[in-house]
Amino acid sequence: MELKTMINVTKIRQDFPILQRTVNGKPLVYFDNAATSQTPKIVIDSIVDYYTNYNANIHRGVHALSQEATDAYEEARIKIQKHFNAKHSHEIIYTSGTTHSINIVANGFAALLKQGDEIIVSALEHHSNIVPWQMLCEKTGAILKVIPMNEEGELIMSEYDKLLTANTKLVFVNHISNALGTINPVKYIIDEAHKVGAAVLIDGAQACPHVKPNVQELDVDFYVASAHKICGPTGVGMLYGKEKWLNRLPPYQGGGEMIAEVSFEKTTYADLPHKFEAGTPHVSGGIAFGVALDYMNSIGFNEIAAYENELLEYATDKLLEIDGLKIYGTSKSKTSVISFNLEGIHPYDVGTILDKLGIAVRTGHHCAQPIMSFYKIPGTIRASFSFYNTKEEIDALVEGVKKAKMMLS
Ligand SMILES: *Cc1c(COP(=O)(O)O)cnc(C)c1O
Repeated sequence: MELKTMINVTKIRQDFPILQRTVNGKPLVYFDNAATSQTPKIVIDSIVDYYTNYNANIHRGVHALSQEATDAYEEARIKIQKHFNAKHSHEIIYTSGTTHSINIVANGFAALLKQGDEIIVSALEHHSNIVPWQMLCEKTGAILKVIPMNEEGELIMSEYDKLLTANTKLVFVNHISNALGTINPVKYIIDEAHKVGAAVLIDGAQACPHVKPNVQELDVDFYVASAHKICGPTGVGMLYGKEKWLNRLPPYQGGGEMIAEVSFEKTTYADLPHKFEAGTPHVSGGIAFGVALDYMNSIGFNEIAAYENELLEYATDKLLEIDGLKIYGTSKSKTSVISFNLEGIHPYDVGTILDKLGIAVRTGHHCAQPIMSFYKIPGTIRASFSFYNTKEEIDALVEGVKKAKMMLS
């Protein structure tokens, strides 16, 4: 009960200009947070401030603007390091987002794998965590294995245990499923993989809005995230890698910034983190990423999790009162994502009616077609809640779904 009062949602909503707007004449109800979060004014202001006052290319200039921009960008890297509790700031690589981060690792492992090596992924993966590994297997002759899921949308750990062998070189699992909200037992997955000498990459894109990952405590080899799901801008994200792994992996892209010395005979690579940061980066994005983390930490991740859990329970109970409504992903260990369908009605049609009512949800396969195949459905309606959402908005969703059901059945 005490936790309830710790989030002042009325005050928080004033931080987000977009939450004041209307859609189709109705107040916006934004329940597509698992696709991207909304942006607080303080983050928007930091981007405007950068372009207004100290826009410059970084790391190369001796002039004042370049120095200021470099300092702000590198300070943001340290904020990210502290947030994830990485041991060194050079273990944080700026990327364009989760997908880019995963591709850096996949590309790097192409040089380390051989025919017959095995890679394990999970049945709950986002496409961005399946396709790069399939490409890697094609390139190297490695074999892809999949941890199966159960009806509740949980990974089956006894099956995972059986998949691990001396040939397992890599394990890739998301921390939290974007399609179902399931929180995966990543600590167990990491520890068991390490017993056979395999490296582990955890896709944290969907976890970071809800929890504060501690990469040293997890002892994870790689952890990846996107800023745009944690109140930051699009086009920027991060790859955490243990120093020993980042030193072993070859660079992903060649270009400026990532070299130490260049001649036509031989080029030597820059030290970490620059080895993986070819070209002019998204400077304002990196700085804004740091501001977004500051903002979320000022609210507090314990408070965020407690409040979002309340919203999840409230919405689950209310939605289940609707006849013929089925929720997919019913693990006890889940975050504020509800994937559901109305019996005999296509999810797209429900989404369209909700949009007319100003309610933004996602419909479709959520970049996770294998999960939809498992349930033998074309897709779901997904409502995902953030700490700036309210119970009143959930009431509006429930009324909207009832209305859609009436109109469509
Ligand atoms: C959003 C998401 C991604 C992809 O993130 P991008 O920012 O589009 O690169 C990958 N995995 C999961 C679990 C996600 O939720």
